Amino acid sequence: MSYLVLFGGDPYAWVRREWEALIAKINAARKGKKAKLLVGGPGVLEFFQMRSELDKEGIDYAFSGEADDILPDLFEQVANDNIDPKLFYKGYTEYDDKFSRSYKQDDKILSRTLTGKLYPKLEEIPTIVNPAIKGMIEVMRGCGVGCDFCEVTLRPLRYYTPEMISAEIDVNLRKGGNSHVWLHSDDIWGYKHDNFFRPNEDALTDMFKLVMDTPGVSGSNPTHGRISIPSGFPELMDKLSKILKAGPDNWIGIQTGLETGSESLAKKHMPNKTMPLKIGVDGSWEEIVWQGVYNETKYYWRSAFTLQVGQPGETDEDLWDTVAMVNRLSNSRIDDGRPFEFTVTPLQNVPMGRMTSKKFDSDLLNEAELAVYYASYRHLAKMASRRKSEGTGNIVVKAGTGAIISFGGYLMMKVVEDIARKRGVDISKVKRYGLEQRKEFSSVSALAHA
Ligand code: SF4
Repeated sequence: MSYLVLFGGDPYAWVRREWEALIAKINAARKGKKAKLLVGGPGVLEFFQMRSELDKEGIDYAFSGEADDILPDLFEQVANDNIDPKLFYKGYTEYDDKFSRSYKQDDKILSRTLTGKLYPKLEEIPTIVNPAIKGMIEVMRGCGVGCDFCEVTLRPLRYYTPEMISAEIDVNLRKGGNSHVWLHSDDIWGYKHDNFFRPNEDALTDMFKLVMDTPGVSGSNPTHGRISIPSGFPELMDKLSKILKAGPDNWIGIQTGLETGSESLAKKHMPNKTMPLKIGVDGSWEEIVWQGVYNETKYYWRSAFTLQVGQPGETDEDLWDTVAMVNRLSNSRIDDGRPFEFTVTPLQNVPMGRMTSKKFDSDLLNEAELAVYYASYRHLAKMASRRKSEGTGNIVVKAGTGAIISFGGYLMMKVVEDIARKRGVDISKVKRYGLEQRKEFSSVSALAHA
């Protein structure tokens, strides 16, 4: 969707084609047999909006939610078409944009809504028995920070124990041969967090130590985390970097939802995302982000940021604030002269209703939104050109890979530039926007510890 609003063209996504091909294959294999087709996973919520697709694709049931503790019951009841209402609700929970809840009945969509037990307890979550992709292990579920566009926050917090973490690493090492450990959560800094989302430094260092001390593990990184912790807790980042053996040849990647450069939008949609720092007290949203990237670069962490364009209530001014933030970060350096390290990917915020109405066309990106895309791709091209010496393999392969990445980054930036120019974006304005009024950033970390 994010590319569709940029390039226009056919609204049929590749993933959708792949999905339909897979379902067709499964349906061919079960033709004339009694086998039922049940789908699950977070994507099931798309069927809430595109209900007719379930019938069109011949899917018998879709299950929405977590099912670790009741999966055998689910399979058995689906196979026999005998759904026990004490365990499964025929329908699902819907939330409006103010997060108020309503229930919708549906014979084909099952959930745990109104059943008395909505989620498995920690002790009911089994650890993996076969290796996960990329050596990934789960370390917690839920989040609780409360960003208003996010469903994860509604789930209860459950933290994997050291025993569970070790058991999953063991499977990935023994059966998957994967020595790198990805620690999956929606916000690693929330692991056993303290009041007001202060990071639990002991729990975090113990967890990373446990992972890195496991014989056979060569490296590790978390999947997701907020920027406010690197911003306000540099000593913690330093400690974790030492445990993870971070350095110029071992950057610790982490994905962070930055969403916007606009102070007012940040306060409106995600006021707690900077906790325990407070926007406007410990620094502006942009200052908190800036200090976070500073500390990450210093300790060899590299954030992969995502931005949203098209958020509810977003104005052109908000979007230009985002352009300014990307430009300032892109042109900043830490004390020893190294440039800020991060990637930034703009994503289109797609309200579910728009998906139903299938109103997609290339005009969806207005001038200011395109400016955010262009500023982001300019930075990505810059990052790609720095990656010339990275990659795996011998020096020749590395140089080849680096050149391709660098050229690819440049090419994509030029394509976006071309589209933006044709649609009336003032390219030189985007390039310099926010740089003339470079702000003097105060030290957020000093404030956090005051
Ligand atoms: S911090 Fe991330 S996971 Fe948590 S509520 Fe906000 S967007 Fe969702």
